[in-house]
Amino acid sequence: MTDQTNQTDRTETGARPVRVRIAPSPTGDPHVGTAYIALFNYAFARHNGGKFLLRIEDTDRERSTKESERAIFEALRWVGLSWDEGPDIGGPFGPYRQSERSDIYRKHADELVAKKAAYHCFCTAQRLTELREKQKAAKSDFGYDGFCRHLPEAEVQAKLKAGAPNVIRLAVPEGETSFNDLVRGEVTFQNSTVDDQVLLKSDGFPTYHLANVVDDHLMQITHVIRAEEWISSTPKHVLLYRAFGWEAPQFVHMPLLRNQDRSKISKRKNPTSLLWYRDQGYLPEALLNFLALMGWSVQEGQDIFNLESMIRDFTLDRVTTSGPVFDLQKLEWLNGVYIRDMAAPELARRVRESALKDQPVDEAFLLRTLPLVRERMKKLTDYVPMTAYLYSETVNPSAQDLVPKKGTPQSASAALTAAADALQGLADWSSPAIEQCARQLAVTLGMKERDLFMSVRVAVTGGPVSPPLFESLELLGREKSVARIRAAIGKLAAG
Ligand code: GLU
Repeated sequence: MTDQTNQTDRTETGARPVRVRIAPSPTGDPHVGTAYIALFNYAFARHNGGKFLLRIEDTDRERSTKESERAIFEALRWVGLSWDEGPDIGGPFGPYRQSERSDIYRKHADELVAKKAAYHCFCTAQRLTELREKQKAAKSDFGYDGFCRHLPEAEVQAKLKAGAPNVIRLAVPEGETSFNDLVRGEVTFQNSTVDDQVLLKSDGFPTYHLANVVDDHLMQITHVIRAEEWISSTPKHVLLYRAFGWEAPQFVHMPLLRNQDRSKISKRKNPTSLLWYRDQGYLPEALLNFLALMGWSVQEGQDIFNLESMIRDFTLDRVTTSGPVFDLQKLEWLNGVYIRDMAAPELARRVRESALKDQPVDEAFLLRTLPLVRERMKKLTDYVPMTAYLYSETVNPSAQDLVPKKGTPQSASAALTAAADALQGLADWSSPAIEQCARQLAVTLGMKERDLFMSVRVAVTGGPVSPPLFESLELLGREKSVARIRAAIGKLAAG
């Protein structure tokens, strides 16, 4: 393989064209943090006319699964962040799945050994466990003690020849390692705190550190924008870039999303699976907007904005370091705003897909129901319980709910009988006419409107809380409405 750095096209200013990536590990449900980091990479790439890549880091053979990989594709497609190169669509720097790049890592690990920047380690699992226990007892830092680093070359060669199992470790030099984080400024680590990290495991698979650096280099990544939790890995990466003689990318460590108590976002305190948000009926654009409010300074009072305006406005100098709190209530609120503002046919399409799971529902009817509920819907899935009474043949109110607070079953029954009769004879079955009729009836009966309407509401919708009553009656139609009121009267009589 040729070193692709040499083939890089530089722009007129000498800068490399922007190429960024997300590199999720397919080990579980696609995480909301992946979408958060993806969003910032995506916005940065688009703002700068660059490329956004998806690379699958499946070097952990025990924990990586194909299902998880598929779920990552699905979840990122759902949120609408499309990548320019990736395992599913290919690209000029593939393969984009690390399990398909083993030879590349082996070759690079060998190169580091040849340069004395890495070494073979033959320590057995037992020795390493004993070492750890000793360190634990002495309360000293964990880390490899460098035993194999100084083995005589002849001994190393003999062991290799004999096929002794071994790993390749990074030979961390003395001193300190600094790098410039575009948001945090200069970050310095004492090398004494940096472990002689395993780069290549005994099964020939690389660890995250080696694969990540080799790939970021070969894929010509210019900016590594990743979560803060990786910051302690960065000195190892910087040492690797130096050892290879490569130019390191620019680093940006985004603040971690946090639970309300400011701990790192976790499943126990917040839903973290992206597909959970889809299944709950959140809109991808609302979720993206929500994530876009985190991690950088957005102008006060400008909570609602779409991906395009984020692309236009986002620059790295606006990234902050304080951990944004993941506030599910805020997301719910935003989701409601998007639901209210969406064009009706589009909302109908989303409701069909998300809440109705493609059950056959008449389009015209669906469109007529939306104005009744969209004001109060926070999630697409709210549509189903909110409108169940409009789709069902009958409802099943409790006798107790049918009787107003100061009324009796008899008075409620009389009021409902009068309402059924009046509605049956109403000339014009439209919500204004129904409303007028109902108000008139309250006067005739000498009842409080509130009490009369409540009994009718419970009779027709099945419960005391419902979308607007007169519009509901109009939609249900005369026959169903009157039948439900009469059924309620029967219930009171049986009562
Ligand atoms: N595989 C790492 C992850 O799961 C990638 C971290 C990085 O972006 O370097 O997030």
